[in-house]
Amino acid sequence: MVKGIKMAEKRDYYEVLGVGRDASADEIKKAYRALAKKYHPDVNPGDAEAEQKFKEINEAYGVLSDPDKRSKYDAYGHSAFEAGGGGYSQGGGFDGFDMGDIFSSIFGGGFGSSSSRRANNGPSRGSDIEAHIVLSFEEAAFGCKREISFNRIENCSHCHGTGAEKGSGAERCPTCQGRGRVVTQQRTVFGIMQSESTCPTCNGNGRVIKNPCKNCNGKGMVRVKRTQVVDVPAGIDEGMSFAVRGAGNEGRNGGPSGDFVVEVSVRPHPLFERDGKDLYCDVSLSFVDVALGAEIKIPTLEGEIDYTIPEGTQTGTMFTIRQKGIADVYGRGPKGNLYVKVVVETPRNLSKEQKEILKSFAQSFGPGSDDGNDDAPPKKRSFFKRRGH
Ligand SMILES: [Zn+2]
Ligand SMILES: [Zn+2]
Repeated sequence: MVKGIKMAEKRDYYEVLGVGRDASADEIKKAYRALAKKYHPDVNPGDAEAEQKFKEINEAYGVLSDPDKRSKYDAYGHSAFEAGGGGYSQGGGFDGFDMGDIFSSIFGGGFGSSSSRRANNGPSRGSDIEAHIVLSFEEAAFGCKREISFNRIENCSHCHGTGAEKGSGAERCPTCQGRGRVVTQQRTVFGIMQSESTCPTCNGNGRVIKNPCKNCNGKGMVRVKRTQVVDVPAGIDEGMSFAVRGAGNEGRNGGPSGDFVVEVSVRPHPLFERDGKDLYCDVSLSFVDVALGAEIKIPTLEGEIDYTIPEGTQTGTMFTIRQKGIADVYGRGPKGNLYVKVVVETPRNLSKEQKEILKSFAQSFGPGSDDGNDDAPPKKRSFFKRRGH
């Protein structure tokens, strides 16, 4: 790797140009010209070492020919031009080659390509498509099927992704000879200045199409409206997402497709609250039921079930109904539990007769009868105690 070599052998700029530290501007210019001539890529075609040398010379000259940069270099060395002082700076300063690589990896492909190769004609994975759906509480709990429509980038069926009309093909770009990048040279009074950039003819593809496909305008990819039926897994919860592998945008040049990623929101339930796999709900019971015990109906997501409330149940008591909660979304382990909290309703609008009954009921405990009366409700007993009876 070029970067590896550079990192290991970051040579002194004066040494690179073969001049002394006290060299005049003229001497530096002369040395640079001689070396640039010798190592120029045109003179050494295909010679990677010469190319590397040429870059090194340009970098050294870029600093030493600028009085301001030269004095900084004299004071701090290479670290004067490194980002954050942390070793060799990627794409920083003078190295147009690396700068170009970074941009091509960010913008390469044009269809969300994540390829970082030098020429953008290799296979690249398609990007993910994201969707958002709102589910009812039950749909999330039990799972469901949903039909979702979206726009998907696919290889053009007319040209099979080549971008060329039938009978013609993609040809090597004449501007960059298939490299995808072009070197621009400028002759200045200081010598040859060179920079490299993405080829404007082929946009870095390395290939051009003589007779572009009419269906995709030569892009090779088209935007198509698709409908996907997704299986929403049982037990999915607010903010979770799941993916349909390979249902995202198609890859370029035979690369794999991205995923179709679906994020869900879940509407609340009028009765149940959810915490992970567990459900919570309140049941209202009359004080007669909780005092005497009763057979009651308890709501679950799958319908009502019979439940026996024991005699003397206190308000706030929580019953656990095992495995009447929600399925594990990953399919691991049993369902969660349903926790039912008892809320005792105080009777209102009692008739005169009912009030009389309650009064005599209260009197049946006797005045201040906290001694020896174990049937009295515990809270009432403690209330009398606090009042000093
Ligand atoms: Zn096409
Ligand atoms: Zn080109």
